[in-house]
Amino acid sequence: MDTNFIGTEMHQLMEELYPICRSITGNGVRQTLKILAKHIPLDVHEIPSGTQAFDWVVPREWNIRDAYIKNARGEKIVDFQISNLHVLNYSAPIKRKVKLAELKEHLFSLPEHEDWIPHRTSYYRENWGFCLSHRQLESLEDSEYDVFIDSSLEDGHLTYGEYYLKGETTDEFLISTHTCHPSLCNDNLSGLALSTYLASALGKMELRYSYRFLFIPSTIGSITWLSLNEERVSNIKHGLVIACVGDPGKMHYKKTRRGNTEIDRAVEHVLKHSGQDYGILEFSPYGYDERQYSSPGFNLPMGSLSRTPHGRFPEYHTSADNMDFVKADSLSDSYSKYMEVIDVIEHNKTYLNTNPKCEPQLGKRGLYSMFGGKRDENRYELAMLWVLNFSDGACSLLDIADRSGLPFSFIKEAAAKLVDCRLLTEANPRHA
Ligand code: ZN
Repeated sequence: MDTNFIGTEMHQLMEELYPICRSITGNGVRQTLKILAKHIPLDVHEIPSGTQAFDWVVPREWNIRDAYIKNARGEKIVDFQISNLHVLNYSAPIKRKVKLAELKEHLFSLPEHEDWIPHRTSYYRENWGFCLSHRQLESLEDSEYDVFIDSSLEDGHLTYGEYYLKGETTDEFLISTHTCHPSLCNDNLSGLALSTYLASALGKMELRYSYRFLFIPSTIGSITWLSLNEERVSNIKHGLVIACVGDPGKMHYKKTRRGNTEIDRAVEHVLKHSGQDYGILEFSPYGYDERQYSSPGFNLPMGSLSRTPHGRFPEYHTSADNMDFVKADSLSDSYSKYMEVIDVIEHNKTYLNTNPKCEPQLGKRGLYSMFGGKRDENRYELAMLWVLNFSDGACSLLDIADRSGLPFSFIKEAAAKLVDCRLLTEANPRHA
């Protein structure tokens, strides 16, 4: 598959989503999901404001049409139409004249990057405000300003998207990504694009696991979903939170709370054999929605595979996290890594050697010549010996891959050939 082409397509999808002002609720999320639904059959859920979700309550819905600051000469000096980052996300409406001193209490800037606009939110405390470059803030004259925010905070809904892909078993692989950030690319239009392209690709494949893709606002979205789906949660056997997958940095994997689940081992295996540098991070109760999925009452095997983790790139939550910061090549590479991880999870079965007393004679079954001419002929032969020796009903193919030091793809292919020759049979085959 030409994954470079996929990175370019993902980049184009991000470009379409970039101008939309998203938040944890509101029409920006609906518009975003509508665009994603052109690629995958997304179910859109609307959860009313005031709905209790464990210790939280679904907030009032926020929508915004326009916002600006005008100076004493009537010139728009800060304009929402130019960048939606200019408005404190979830700002209450306001229309009045303010003096500079009062205005400054509602302005946010980044002194360390004086040309960038920061991304700030005030979801759970009613406030109004604007974000602007530090350079502009410093240049404001001591006079009166017109501030105008045409927004609404009203009873409405929290909107999220869900795509459930039925596999051979009801055991699930959960993929969750957050939809609540406005014009910011790595965090997290890259996550939206990658989830969409993975879902679209998996939709065309025969799958062992069922896959559930969630496109939800961060924190309140996962809490709401968990509170509405508590009885389904026991089906989740593996999961990944997708965010920050388009920057040029190396891949990072944040482990699950349990730390040694199958998804942890699958991701670490893929990264280790990628031939590229990577980082492994221990679980911490900070970050994205893995915090909710990994709360002690759920403790789900949810890891997070990203490139540079949130907060570790200077462009994070600023206007510099733009379309130039994310690269088609990086998106392609992230896509490939995710597909490899899914391939490991899909094929990580446990087998029994049907001829366990001494080695079976591989030559007479044509197994030695099976891989003849392949570039890595010797490694395939070695993989067969490893699979035969360790297929004792206790070791899975991933166990064997790790123990042998061979990439999973070799072990998988060797196992498939041995199954064809009836030298292997699946131990405890699962049925849906
Ligand atoms: Zn963020």
